[in-house]
Amino acid sequence: MRSDGKGRSWTDRPVTLDAILVLVVLCVALSLMFMQKIVPSSRTSQFLVVECGSAGVYNIPWDEKGVYNFSGPLGESHLELTEAGARMVSSPCPDKICIEMGIITRPGQAIVCVPNRIVVRVLQGRE
Ligand SMILES: [Zn+2]
Repeated sequence: MRSDGKGRSWTDRPVTLDAILVLVVLCVALSLMFMQKIVPSSRTSQFLVVECGSAGVYNIPWDEKGVYNFSGPLGESHLELTEAGARMVSSPCPDKICIEMGIITRPGQAIVCVPNRIVVRVLQGRE
């Protein structure tokens, strides 16, 4: 509470208080910048989560490149994980929407095959 300063001019306030405020604001701004820089750079800790209908959920580390087969009600869907990202290369679904979704590379992106009940998501892992 600073009731005595009410109505007074700004020059009555000690300069150090303003300096501390500026420092606090700077610290918050800097830490926000750092957080934004750190999150995209830690790409190696991300992984794929594949939800495959009744068959279960699979976690695939982003470093384990290759082609993965997942069985759904219609048959086998083939998911390819490369340096460029993850994409559905073939699927027995009639519309092929999952293949047209293309490559996913960042946390939050997903490939969904509704007919074959397969959901592929990129998640960010914590170390
Ligand atoms: Zn599909």
